[in-house]
Amino acid sequence: MIFRSIFVLTAALALPGSDAQAGQAAAKPKVDHSLGYDNTPFLPGQPWRVHDITRPHPPKVTPGSIPGAPPSDAVALFDGKDLSKWRMTAKGKTATSTWKVANGYFEVDPQGGDLVTRDKFGDCQLHVEWMIPAGETGKGQDGGNSGVMLMSAYEIQVLESFRNVTYADGQAGSIYGQWPPLVNASRQEGEWQSYDIFFEAPVFAAGMVVKPAYMTVVHNGVLVQHHKEILGHVVHAKVAVYSPHTPEEPLLLQNHHHQVRYRNIWIRRLKGYDVR
Ligand code: MG
Repeated sequence: MIFRSIFVLTAALALPGSDAQAGQAAAKPKVDHSLGYDNTPFLPGQPWRVHDITRPHPPKVTPGSIPGAPPSDAVALFDGKDLSKWRMTAKGKTATSTWKVANGYFEVDPQGGDLVTRDKFGDCQLHVEWMIPAGETGKGQDGGNSGVMLMSAYEIQVLESFRNVTYADGQAGSIYGQWPPLVNASRQEGEWQSYDIFFEAPVFAAGMVVKPAYMTVVHNGVLVQHHKEILGHVVHAKVAVYSPHTPEEPLLLQNHHHQVRYRNIWIRRLKGYDVR
């Protein structure tokens, strides 16, 4: 008798258009496919389905108002006013910067040290604007030399390379001593130039590099380094090797005894995909 009652109840649930069936449909609402899916295949090597409705949405960032201006999540390292985010390295006589600030830019003090940020950074996007002042007549590596060193160790060369010729892996846009730029996108001395750098920090374990650094560089809007593997700490006339360091290190601007100018420097710490 009990079994018969269950059979009747089950049959009632299966009847088309019955109230019981409507209740079942309400229990599992239809997925809005404009927002995603919950029944598609998983992506290889990812914990997410194709178009996964539960995949985290990327955080919103407001772009800069004009090209080159910092977006809303950038750290401004120099906004045209002061060098409070920087200090002088031991090479200089004082920890307080002697690099001169004027007219919205600052300039290398050839008698001072290198300049490093007070904060430390690892994986990052970096925007730097620089200029070799008009009248620079130096040749080779003496042609308005400075440099942008990620983690104080991996240098993108700053140099007058519009007219001035030097070895290819030491001209502007090179990863110094390792990779020449893909093309020479230099502007003339006296004109502002830009670097947009996308940097992956190296990873060390037990004193060994287990993942090298990678660098992508856009010079004046032109790709000059395309996800290049870095061989190690910058060095002159030798093959670079790594020296283990912490996951974050200061950004360094090189004093190579030339009055190179910088302005509008900002940096974004990079997080991985699917990080809220
Ligand atoms: Mg240099």
